[in-house]
Amino acid sequence: MKDKKNQQPVNTPVLTDMFSRTISYLRLSLTDRCNLKCMYCVTEDEKNGCLVKLGQEELLTYEELLRVVRVAVEMGITKLRLTGGEPLVRHNIMHFISNLASVQGIDDIRITTNGVLLEKYAQRLFAAGVTKINISLDTLKPERFTEITGVDCFNRVWKGIETALAIGFSPVKLNMVVMRDINDDELPAFAELSREMPLQVRFIEFMPIGTSTRWNQNTYMSSDEIMERFRTLGELIPMEKQQADGPARVFKLGADAVGSLGFISPISHHFCDRCNRLRLTSEGRLRSCLLHDEETDLKSVLRAGCSDADIRETLLTAIRNKPKGHQMAERLKEDGGDCHGRMSRIGG
Ligand code: SAM
Repeated sequence: MKDKKNQQPVNTPVLTDMFSRTISYLRLSLTDRCNLKCMYCVTEDEKNGCLVKLGQEELLTYEELLRVVRVAVEMGITKLRLTGGEPLVRHNIMHFISNLASVQGIDDIRITTNGVLLEKYAQRLFAAGVTKINISLDTLKPERFTEITGVDCFNRVWKGIETALAIGFSPVKLNMVVMRDINDDELPAFAELSREMPLQVRFIEFMPIGTSTRWNQNTYMSSDEIMERFRTLGELIPMEKQQADGPARVFKLGADAVGSLGFISPISHHFCDRCNRLRLTSEGRLRSCLLHDEETDLKSVLRAGCSDADIRETLLTAIRNKPKGHQMAERLKEDGGDCHGRMSRIGG
């Protein structure tokens, strides 16, 4: 992937939406299946033992995904993120990633993972050119990890994080979804990690997505409130914005910290005006805003024997429909405002 940079056309196309935002980032949810059952992600039906996962034929095949990516890259997409569900549980994932990395014009493939299979896959991911990684971790306490995720494997995830650092992934970001009375007592411990380890520890506002989450006005904590908790720990020094920071506001906890802290505030300080994202859900639907349920069905187009021009037109339709913003903070005050998509299908 890296050595292809020089082969890129000089005039890389630029894709813009109706509000002059450049759309350059495509997130692919490769599967809705996961090896964890996080309390904020699993639906009531799943908790009651009913299988509500997509069948294999409902997922886009790797060939379909590669075709969409090739067209999207020709249109101006340069950055991809693989997510899910858990992307590393999909069968033959490394073969797919290697093919993806050979698509001309992609200069950045990243992955978001729960880390359970990271020790196994880290070396191969890195060799394929996926060198930037986000790992989700909501607690540093093994017993609480089991309570939140339903699986007793904190140590495996931690080993995965250490492996990623040892191999040289950079950045390695830890994503913590902050939930009051569930894990907010660990905010100082997470912040302290960034002093000693070259991690970007990111605190994500809990979002009201899906019907089953534990989200309510009480579990939700705004980034401002989260930051306030760190005041006594040391000075929060703002860092210069890097391209890899995405929507996070990034700080160092004291001048000597090896790592950094990131605050992601989709609700309280939303970043809609600079949103560059388009999502492809695991059921093959284009979703132009995480917090809006409107989607464009790309799978039906693909399976109706379409041309590349049809794919292009469907991508453009989704981008044209990208809303100016999600107004979730206002909607929450009025009607509770949750959105009904499933995080495991959307991919975060
Ligand atoms: N399985 C992978 C993982 O755990 O990172 C990728 C999929 S997961 C849906 C992507 C991210 O979304 C995770 O960091 C997860 O914590 C986050 N997430 C899920 N539900 C959320 C919610 N309601 N609010 C905020 N973040 C959420």
